[in-house]
Amino acid sequence: MTPRRAVVALGSNLQDPRAQVRRAFGELGGLPGTRVLARSSLWETAPVGYADQPAFVNACALVETTLPPRRLLDGLLAIERAHGRVRDIPNGPRTLDLDIVLYGESAHHEDGLTLPHPRAHERAFVLAPLLEVWPDAIIPGLGAASQYRERVAGQAIERLPDTP
Ligand code: ADP
Ligand code: MG
Repeated sequence: MTPRRAVVALGSNLQDPRAQVRRAFGELGGLPGTRVLARSSLWETAPVGYADQPAFVNACALVETTLPPRRLLDGLLAIERAHGRVRDIPNGPRTLDLDIVLYGESAHHEDGLTLPHPRAHERAFVLAPLLEVWPDAIIPGLGAASQYRERVAGQAIERLPDTP
């Protein structure tokens, strides 16, 4: 299969979130047929939906992969499980969340997989790192990702300084 570009959003707010996200960047590159082309900065963000929990660390990875979307998602869910992810409270605390934001130009909906991610353009913590790794990204059906950045300017996010 021809390699496709995809964007994976990473998020964590438990058990050393920065380390969880950094480790996950490396693990993405370990998925079959998958190469990480760019890593965003880490961004600290206030929780959305369920406020009584620690702040999140969010990031995006631009990858090139020969895995079809469903297989990529299965790989992401396996990495989440390896990080001890437990699903209990929706939007609740998690050691690691990996979402497919974009997969090539696909707009696609099946049981358990919607592409592009339906809420990506409403979330500063996705848009800011996405635009770092792919400034010209197009969200299928919606257009340039950059045009949504201003609409979410009210959401509190902060770029964390780079540390080696
Ligand atoms: P959320 O990421 O919305 O906080 P979860 O991580 O618990 O919630 O994801 C719930 C389900 O969302 C996953 O099991 C997966 O099947 C589904 N899902 C649908 N579209 C996507 C996508 N683009 N990326 C990741 N998961 C998705
Ligand atoms: Mg998820």
